[in-house]
Amino acid sequence: MLAEMGVRVWAPKPAASAAAPEPVPERPAAHPAAAPLAPQTPAAPAPVAAPAAARPPVTASARPVNPAPAPARVAAALASLPAGIEQMDWPALREAVAGCRACGLCEGRKHTVFGTGSTPADWLIVGEAPGEHEDLQGEPFVGAAGQLLDNMLRAVGSSRTGEGAQGAYITNVLKCRPPANRNPQSAEVAQCAHYLARQVALVQPKVIIAMGRFAVQALLQSNEPIGKLRGQVHRYQGVPVIVTYHPAYLLRTPSDKGKAWADLCLAMETVDTPLRR
Ligand code: URA
Repeated sequence: MLAEMGVRVWAPKPAASAAAPEPVPERPAAHPAAAPLAPQTPAAPAPVAAPAAARPPVTASARPVNPAPAPARVAAALASLPAGIEQMDWPALREAVAGCRACGLCEGRKHTVFGTGSTPADWLIVGEAPGEHEDLQGEPFVGAAGQLLDNMLRAVGSSRTGEGAQGAYITNVLKCRPPANRNPQSAEVAQCAHYLARQVALVQPKVIIAMGRFAVQALLQSNEPIGKLRGQVHRYQGVPVIVTYHPAYLLRTPSDKGKAWADLCLAMETVDTPLRR
């Protein structure tokens, strides 16, 4: 099937089961992209457990084109965030997100969507924001894009129900649904990024998959197109970050699934080659 897709085939470890992502019915939402870049050798990783909210994300290649909001705006917005996020354990963090009223998205939500998966997990998937189904159920990626994501994870021998090396923790940049599924605003991304930073530290992933441009904005502080950031190993909290297309975009543009598979291959290589991390 991978050969049919015209993508390179990665040879899995004996324990891993690999199959190509399977198409599922389409659903709206998307983030277009451009062409792949040549891979580059990443630097050595840094520990992931240190407090992250105060630390700027690091990338080997992305240039910061989406600067943080003006100081006065940040100060006003962050005043509503709970204190000590960077020290929280899982229960405290989940509770903080559930009660968060740091931006207007709290007004329209049915549920916060915190994240799912056992931890620690080798893979951390970062999407965009909850949609209608996720808002109703309080779980990330439960719609058609979620089915595709599950298929993509299965193809790399991982899943949201797996543990450790076979486990993927799935979350979003935003924990609340934007009204009418509009795009996240930069102030919302900036605030919710503090929760995401703590999730990264607690999950202790070996690789982070940034799916779509808002995940890229939050993790790499870049507005570069996905197509320019693919094929490289970026860094966040010292953890390798692989940029790829959002599953919703792939549902609308199945011709780019081969590129997404190549991105997953790069992620697998990154996980399995510690010296390159
Ligand atoms: N798209 C996302 O980015 N996240 C979800 O949870 C669902 C759809």
